[in-house]
Amino acid sequence: MNIPVMMKVARMHEVGGPLILEELETPQPGAYDVLVRVEACGIVPNLSNILAKWSQWYPEYPLPPLPAIFGLDPAGEIVAVGKDVLGFEVGQRVYVNPGRSCGTCEACATNDQVSCKYYTFNGYFGHTSLSWKIFERYPYAGFGQYMTAPTTALVKIPDSMSYEEAARFGYIGTAYSGLKKGNVKATSTVLINGASGTLGLSGVLCALAMGARKILGTGRDRELLAAVKAIAPDRIEIFSTLDGSITDWVDAQTNGNGADMVLDCLGPGTSYETFLEGLYSLARGGILVNVGAVQGEVPIKLHYLTSANRFLFGSNWFSTQEGGELAALAETGALDMSVFEHQVHPLEEVNEAISGLSTRKGGFTNFVIRP
Ligand SMILES: [Zn+2]
Repeated sequence: MNIPVMMKVARMHEVGGPLILEELETPQPGAYDVLVRVEACGIVPNLSNILAKWSQWYPEYPLPPLPAIFGLDPAGEIVAVGKDVLGFEVGQRVYVNPGRSCGTCEACATNDQVSCKYYTFNGYFGHTSLSWKIFERYPYAGFGQYMTAPTTALVKIPDSMSYEEAARFGYIGTAYSGLKKGNVKATSTVLINGASGTLGLSGVLCALAMGARKILGTGRDRELLAAVKAIAPDRIEIFSTLDGSITDWVDAQTNGNGADMVLDCLGPGTSYETFLEGLYSLARGGILVNVGAVQGEVPIKLHYLTSANRFLFGSNWFSTQEGGELAALAETGALDMSVFEHQVHPLEEVNEAISGLSTRKGGFTNFVIRP
């Protein structure tokens, strides 16, 4: 494998500043790491906020030390393996889960890496004050031609899946893990609150793949919602929040029973009342899993939860093992990623691509950098 000595990367030098194209030495993989040639890296809609506002919003969650390479959702080909790597080979196509953890604590040993006190999003931001130790070990990410990654982060992707589709795994995996925590099954009626956005549309596709009988999707934009319904008209019902109360609508759709599960996918800036309308749509024994980004404090009637065994969970990202399940669902066709419209840019256009997210067609547009 011909690996160049130098590689192109895009790095941010100051918070809110542009990503600057530079050349760095191509890294060598550590003993248990691989080197991946990045073929595609997804741009999540939240990225411009992370770059410009994150330090003020959540100062306790550190950005990588600057100058830093960002790029959360990389997919590519393994071009070199560390000397102690077993189970992965040069030439394999992979998605690189950006979730990094220590690998040795009890949480990590039980496949609950998010609960690790080192949990960090490679190429994005850290979740704890110890994240700098992870950034030190893994400073490379998706907005560069090559990156190192531990084998624990690698999801093998099927030949039928394009790198552009794999670069969408981040939010799909987040939705999938949330739906699993909500015990979604064939008999479930699932409400996806915020169904036309990047995360919500992922939730719709995963709920279909997991066999949920009925999916109720909310949003504002009627045109986008109609496109969501068109994915599976017999199983998906849609509702615009411009037309009234989500709770009343779910009540009517379920003969007064409520939704078995709610996946909240609302974006930052959405009012908490919309979140509460989703929560108050739960059936007895129902589960709401929040993967959305409603900010600030939310007043909740606790008796509503207690009196009917209702659950409220937060869920962050997904495990590499869950990524493998998604790859299998895609391989069998249960997870249909054909609805995405890929908008691919070279690394040189990374700043334009990040700022161009406002022109997207909801969650249907998949913004990808091909370094
Ligand atoms: Zn750990």
